[in-house]
Amino acid sequence: MKKALLLYSDGLDSRLVVHLLQEQGYTVEALYFALPFESKRITPKKTNNLNLTIIDITKEPLLSEYLSILKKPKFGTGAGINPCIDCKIFMLKKAKEYADKHGYDIIATGEVPGQRPMSQTNSAQTKIDAEIKFKIIRPLADAGFSGRSRKKQIELAKKYKIKYPNPAGGCFLCEKEPSTRLKTLLKKDLINEKTLILTMIGRHFFIDDIWFVVARDETESRLITKFKTSIKDVKGKPSIYYNNEKGKQKALELQEAYSTGTSKEERDKFEKVKL
Ligand code: SF4
Repeated sequence: MKKALLLYSDGLDSRLVVHLLQEQGYTVEALYFALPFESKRITPKKTNNLNLTIIDITKEPLLSEYLSILKKPKFGTGAGINPCIDCKIFMLKKAKEYADKHGYDIIATGEVPGQRPMSQTNSAQTKIDAEIKFKIIRPLADAGFSGRSRKKQIELAKKYKIKYPNPAGGCFLCEKEPSTRLKTLLKKDLINEKTLILTMIGRHFFIDDIWFVVARDETESRLITKFKTSIKDVKGKPSIYYNNEKGKQKALELQEAYSTGTSKEERDKFEKVKL
């Protein structure tokens, strides 16, 4: 039996591709990439008819490898600092290593032309395939699916009686607003396994070369207070993370400025150094 390795996201497209590949006579194994900047990651569970392997990019050594792509993407970025083409190449290279090791005939993806502006165009796919040098198939594209609408996919899911989850959160790298902050944190090598979570929450400041993160709600406060260098929230006052012991005094000032009921003038002096 032919063996297909599927880049699996657990969404509707991936689930349809499992079905299409099985119909074509493939044994399918799914490879799920836990990416560092996915907001609201939902890690899929092993299902009865599908072997699932998770590759965790939030942990070393893969995290550093991924961050180095963010620092210098060969094929540029989208609206934020999302290096979609390089990101796809990164995942497919890992998939190829896995496929070579475990004897797979093809790698499959759930990509649909025109669904995403940067990586799911024909020219992007040509660039990607040229870097991988392995047989890659895109069964939804081959079946004529295209564009952003999911209507046709939903119809097919009904026909095949496939259940699927609602779309999960998007990729944080695609957002314009945090791109300056992320670029600064990357340049200063401040993103690692531990601090990764901080990059996607809170208000950020750089004062005297110290990085501060101010919580915006209780969930963020809870995450921040897990760090050794942090000050706890007290009623109406947010938790603050600082990456250097020397930042404690400034962190207390930030806490005061961003407390409930504090005047705008208090905050304005910090807004200038906001990342
Ligand atoms: S949106 Fe782009 S950068 Fe983000 S996970 Fe997808 S391909 Fe990678």
